[in-house]
Amino acid sequence: MEKLLYLQEIAYHIRRDIIEMLAEAGSGHLGGSLGLVDVFTSLYFSEMKHDAQNPMWEERDRLILSIGHVAPVLYATLARAGYFDVNELKTLRKLNSRLQGHPGKDKGLPGIEISSGSLGQGLSISAGIAMGLKINKSSSRVFCICGDGELQEGSIWEAAMAAGHYHLDNLICIVDRNGLQIDGKTSDVMEIEPLSLKWDSFGWHVTVINGNDINQILHTFTKINSVLLKPKVIIAQTSMGKGVPSIENDYRWHGKAPSKTEAEQFLKELEHGYFHY
Ligand SMILES: [Mg+2]
Repeated sequence: MEKLLYLQEIAYHIRRDIIEMLAEAGSGHLGGSLGLVDVFTSLYFSEMKHDAQNPMWEERDRLILSIGHVAPVLYATLARAGYFDVNELKTLRKLNSRLQGHPGKDKGLPGIEISSGSLGQGLSISAGIAMGLKINKSSSRVFCICGDGELQEGSIWEAAMAAGHYHLDNLICIVDRNGLQIDGKTSDVMEIEPLSLKWDSFGWHVTVINGNDINQILHTFTKINSVLLKPKVIIAQTSMGKGVPSIENDYRWHGKAPSKTEAEQFLKELEHGYFHY
């Protein structure tokens, strides 16, 4: 219980950071970033083996952000986990900042494993890293974060096929299943269901969870660790814009930043939700 309260407090601060940094930048992807906060908090503050003081530690678990456009949740989480000063978040999308709109490995920000933004590539990269780790007899794992709209990319399924074929049980793909993408509902743009059956048929172990429930997320991580010889996918059902009720599940907030006035309003909504848990 104490641990849950601690993680919820961190998630609250990360959501604040995201709203504030986007308002400061005047552009960026708010909805998906907010929706993934509980997943990122659970990963960096509980599940993942990593060291902010030694970001390239050989034994670390790797986080591959395939949906590069939700960079704000990665940046805010890394800052809160001690990878760099929280004040640097204010430089998001500014000229010469290490925090660009999509993560760039060449920018030198600690904790960034790959450059991303072009959709559909992260799972192939993750499968390659997972295979390399196995060859090196490493116990490290690879967590790949994909969007649900991103699953419409054909390259995702090539990677899924290879990961199943090579029994990459050190690979965990987390699908941000918010049902929305830039132009509307995934079911309207390009249906991806039946999603569990698709992954299963590619040889993956599938779990469907509420991706905004930290308890459920942590429990799932523990449970799937004992699954051998299969890559694992967690279909995390999230709400785009989670924490700010007035924008939740509204796809128009996929790629939009709040104005300063809107940000104030959103922070109030966030506070209200948090302090009335
Ligand atoms: Mg989506």
